[in-house]
Amino acid sequence: MPGCSTQGKIQAIWNGIWNLQVPHIVKHMIWRATHNALPTLCNLGRRNVVSCVRCWSCKSESEDTVHALWKCSSLFVLWEPDGVLKKLLRYNVSSFADLWMMVLDNRHCLDVNLLAIIFWMIWSRRNSVRLGEAAIEIRNIRQQARLFLQDFLEAQDPKRVCPRVIDRAIRWIPPIHPRVKVNFDGATFNSKGSAGLGIVIQDGSGGVVGAMTERVHLPSSPAVVEAMACRRALLFAQEQGCVDCSVEGDAEVIINSIVAREVLNRNMVRKFKMSSR
Ligand SMILES: [Zn+2]
Repeated sequence: MPGCSTQGKIQAIWNGIWNLQVPHIVKHMIWRATHNALPTLCNLGRRNVVSCVRCWSCKSESEDTVHALWKCSSLFVLWEPDGVLKKLLRYNVSSFADLWMMVLDNRHCLDVNLLAIIFWMIWSRRNSVRLGEAAIEIRNIRQQARLFLQDFLEAQDPKRVCPRVIDRAIRWIPPIHPRVKVNFDGATFNSKGSAGLGIVIQDGSGGVVGAMTERVHLPSSPAVVEAMACRRALLFAQEQGCVDCSVEGDAEVIINSIVAREVLNRNMVRKFKMSSR
């Protein structure tokens, strides 16, 4: 395996794939990528199947696994909204296995499940384009991956992904147009060593403007989960282009802390009205 010289690293990569909360087909694709077993143009070129290994998308660099799934300039639109991924993009990695290790090392601040699905969708899209089939727009992959992951997690554990939605819906007060309301929640799954972040953005009529869930590594306390959910809610609202929001969660201590200490930057404070239930 390129870039992985120790048994410990190989084991870490294997465990990182095995523990993903994603469909098997995604795990299989990630496993193949870490073993440089995807039929990229570079790999096909080595077998004399193709003569030109230049990437079809950017038309400027050779298409190896890292390029096809990560470094191609056509994919930057996917990574740039995420500060952590944008930072990781600056590092040169010689193989997808090294990239995967870097991702695992940052799993405390990355949704590895979501990223695995994004890699899978990038590869599926790439194959569709090469076959002349209809393909998803690259800029829409992240949102589609979120929905895909949400559906998968709910199918695996429907009661635990959104355990308190019904209870809260009764007390939900709509925002006044044109403001939208961002509700967030965190839940811990101790037996799985993970936590879930749930966010829904609704307009004054109760219509869903955006929704997402993320599974993250289990933090040190439920309060940290709520803080993570709150932070993700603010970022998600920004990603959705919401300019006038109220943000609501039931973690009073987190909300009060944010408001009192002005943890948010000035733009955030202007844009978001924080409240707790
Ligand atoms: Zn490219």
